[in-house]
Amino acid sequence: MTSPTPSTSGLTTARMLAAAHPQAKLPCPVCAVSLRAKNLDKHLATAHKSQAPALAWVGIDRRMMGASIGALVATIIILGIVLASSDLKSDEARTMVLPFLPVIFIPLVMLLMAASGRFKARISVTGDALRLRRTLGLRERVVRLPASIEIGRMTETRGNAALSTYTDEMHVDDGKEELVGTYLRLGAGRAGMIIGCRQKTGFRHHWDPKGWRAGPAYNGCDIEVKGPILVAIEYMLAERGLLSPRTD
Ligand SMILES: [Zn+2]
Repeated sequence: MTSPTPSTSGLTTARMLAAAHPQAKLPCPVCAVSLRAKNLDKHLATAHKSQAPALAWVGIDRRMMGASIGALVATIIILGIVLASSDLKSDEARTMVLPFLPVIFIPLVMLLMAASGRFKARISVTGDALRLRRTLGLRERVVRLPASIEIGRMTETRGNAALSTYTDEMHVDDGKEELVGTYLRLGAGRAGMIIGCRQKTGFRHHWDPKGWRAGPAYNGCDIEVKGPILVAIEYMLAERGLLSPRTD
């Protein structure tokens, strides 16, 4: 059993749910706006020509920032040890050590790339395994479905998202958190997977609270995706009976 594929937009499931619950509100599987279910077909026809383009479940790897800072600190420590233990007054040591100094630029470039969201993470589904590949594909987290579903507010420490706001950060309160979007946590605790989204998808208005619980505000996420990808993941969970439309 290998369905749905990661490119699934949720269109088929959305149509099935809309037919079964015409009065419910559902997210459009293409643009993620909230709609009355009975209007879904009309919206798909007029706004999207009844087509849902293939959707790769790819987003920003939000854990690469920490990994890059770790790499930078480790590089500085190693270079420090090397420099301290070598006698740089001797020409021989200088020719040995100095060529390695530019190594420090590797984690610096990583840090800049992480801050601008260049590192990507990917979610895929195979059978009952939901996989998150991140940290340049080196790390994988697997959540077995069915899993607990938690939804909450995603916050961000001001100035953390991009280094370009670093100068602003110097003039604001340290560690001030601001609300930037929503997170969906699948699975509990450290083994869980936290999917963040800045676009409003109306999760609480669409899905019966029997299938999910409200979680506390959380700083950051594992992967940050665009609205239609979060909606596609919601429909994948609905297809498996883990979420059902709100009918109240
Ligand atoms: Zn739409």
